[in-house]
Amino acid sequence: MKTDPIDILKEHSLKHTKQRVRVLEEIALDTVAISQPELEKKLGKEIDRVTLYRILNIYEDKGILHRIMDMNGTANYAICSPSCSEEHHHDEHVHFNCTNCAKIYCLDVSVPQIKMPEGFTATTMSTIAYGICEKCNVTVLK
Ligand SMILES: [Zn+2]
Ligand SMILES: [Zn+2]
Ligand SMILES: [Zn+2]
Repeated sequence: MKTDPIDILKEHSLKHTKQRVRVLEEIALDTVAISQPELEKKLGKEIDRVTLYRILNIYEDKGILHRIMDMNGTANYAICSPSCSEEHHHDEHVHFNCTNCAKIYCLDVSVPQIKMPEGFTATTMSTIAYGICEKCNVTVLK
């Protein structure tokens, strides 16, 4: 998976501005998703809220980031899989929301296919598992 912000922007033919690169840097840094308030806190000095919001929307539209709502209804963002493109997200993997550290992980596990009732067309499916993550399990067991 590409994590160099400049490469990602180039690939999606987006102009790279300093602010856009900074947002991607923060999100690509970790394997876990980052919440919008956390991003605001980290980038608040460099990027105002409105600009940040706009950048996140562009990235979501372009298939660079996907949004995951956590149990409190807060938006979290993670880098998309390489198969995502504009208007076509393919992030049908299970998300894991740790109830101890509140982190959201993108798991390498596909969302189970569920047969829809007649007349219903599902375009996307999301599954969030709640529980204790790998890191917290280790600390809890100690
Ligand atoms: Zn995506
Ligand atoms: Zn945890
Ligand atoms: Zn994900």
